[in-house]
Amino acid sequence: MSTVLKNASFINWETLRFSKTHIHIGEGEDGGLDFYNDFNKVPVSPTDEVIDCKGKLVTKSFAIPHHHAYSVLARGMPAPEKAPANFLEILKYIWWNLDKALDKDMIEASALATAMASAKAGSTFVIDHHASPDYIKGSLNVIARAFEKVGVSHLLCYEITDRDGREKAREGLEETEDYLSKNQGLVGLHASFTVGDETLKKASELMRKTSSGIHIHVAEDKVDQELCLQNHGKRVVERLSDFGVLDSSKTILAHCLHVNDNERQLIKNSAAFVVQNTESNLNNNVGYFNGEGLGERIMLGTDGMHSDMFRTAKAAYFVGQANDDIDFLSAYKRFRKVHHYLNTNNFKGDGENNLLVLDYDSPTEINEENFLGHFIFGLTSNHVQHVISDGKLIVKDRYIQTVNEEEVLNFTKEQAKRLWEKL
Ligand SMILES: [Zn+2]
Repeated sequence: MSTVLKNASFINWETLRFSKTHIHIGEGEDGGLDFYNDFNKVPVSPTDEVIDCKGKLVTKSFAIPHHHAYSVLARGMPAPEKAPANFLEILKYIWWNLDKALDKDMIEASALATAMASAKAGSTFVIDHHASPDYIKGSLNVIARAFEKVGVSHLLCYEITDRDGREKAREGLEETEDYLSKNQGLVGLHASFTVGDETLKKASELMRKTSSGIHIHVAEDKVDQELCLQNHGKRVVERLSDFGVLDSSKTILAHCLHVNDNERQLIKNSAAFVVQNTESNLNNNVGYFNGEGLGERIMLGTDGMHSDMFRTAKAAYFVGQANDDIDFLSAYKRFRKVHHYLNTNNFKGDGENNLLVLDYDSPTEINEENFLGHFIFGLTSNHVQHVISDGKLIVKDRYIQTVNEEEVLNFTKEQAKRLWEKL
């Protein structure tokens, strides 16, 4: 079964050119697209889904380059006994407490809820960074199957760290190697300050052995730099560079807030990509991202805060007015950079047959000259009506087609309750 979008106003995501067209969408990773001027020439078979897109906008769907599905069950949970006073305490009292309580069902519920929320907000690809120290082995498969059930493509990793001792670090490395032998994915590391030299060496060796990249938090808070200087006599990006982490174009450096000029230069001259996570940085009160000197490979992520890339782009633009050199076009470029990352590295699941249909009730005209103004001030995830992932219609009229939303949300509420009781 194929999907046909009739009478579409198609926006090319790279050139922002608008065209009136009918689109025949092939299913599968290499399904592709065909455009027709004349609807009578579209090869429609009786089983095809034909959607009339008159007055609607059609464009490439989105991808989230830094997410934590496991954090989704935290929404509304009880506050920690002691209020965190800084970033390290936020990790200790909230996130490292929560991730230790995760079991298989909770991980599955988190992944299902995240995939549904991502799809409904227009994203068909999620790059996730996962931690569950008491359920490491097999955790990535649980997430992969849940994402696939919903129809969201993925690039997963397990967060390897020494924060719970060498044995857990070894389990994390094993889970990674096992998963990468059968799936596309990355080698995850928590952050420089929780990873000793031995584990960092093993992770970078695994990265080279599997031709993968490292996905790691970098200088999110000043404490990462302070501990690096104290324990290793160098700065975080210098340390990662010394271990060859920056050599892979698959490497993702999340945050990069507290990096000096030399580190910016190292990143710019490397193959690695950076992910800015504005709302998470505001929430943790760790500082502001500034893209100066980092080069062009900057993407926008949600960092587990939510799964809405429209929100992320607006936050980057508004917060960037005082703290960054960002305009409509550079905000949009960062928002879309993830497709270059996925494409350059030949990852599957972000081909041209990933699309969304926007039902945008604008009070003013939208065209190729003023699209970016609408992107920042008008368009939101509320306008996402249909979503096509690898050629398959996974969201229709704002409802997920692949799983029963109500059943999934009942399951996630049950698992959230169990999780909160364990905290
Ligand atoms: Zn993160």
